[in-house]
Amino acid sequence: MSLNKYFKTEGPWSDARVEIMCSDTGGWRSERPVVDEEKCILCGFCAIYCPIQIMKLQSDLFQPDLDFCKGCGICAQECPTNAITMVSEGEFK
Ligand code: SF4
Ligand code: SF4
Repeated sequence: MSLNKYFKTEGPWSDARVEIMCSDTGGWRSERPVVDEEKCILCGFCAIYCPIQIMKLQSDLFQPDLDFCKGCGICAQECPTNAITMVSEGEFK
């Protein structure tokens, strides 16, 4: 089976100029990170430690891109001020 349908390059690597694969991995998530504006000191650690780099500074607050956030909770673990709480997706339905 050819993977060209899914990958824009021939192998699972990139020279960082092209996207290899794009899938909305946020569909796997059972919890999402919620940032407490009062506790956040804008250090950016959550953005640095997020393995898929989807914590973004938006309107003066770091927020996850929920299309891609997998809910791993690493950002919450690394936040030095405990500003991030992992909240069940059930709370948002
Ligand atoms: S790690 Fe915590 S304090 Fe630092 S920017 Fe992220 S949410 Fe704010
Ligand atoms: S929960 Fe995981 S994937 Fe989502 S923003 Fe935090 S570190 Fe990134």
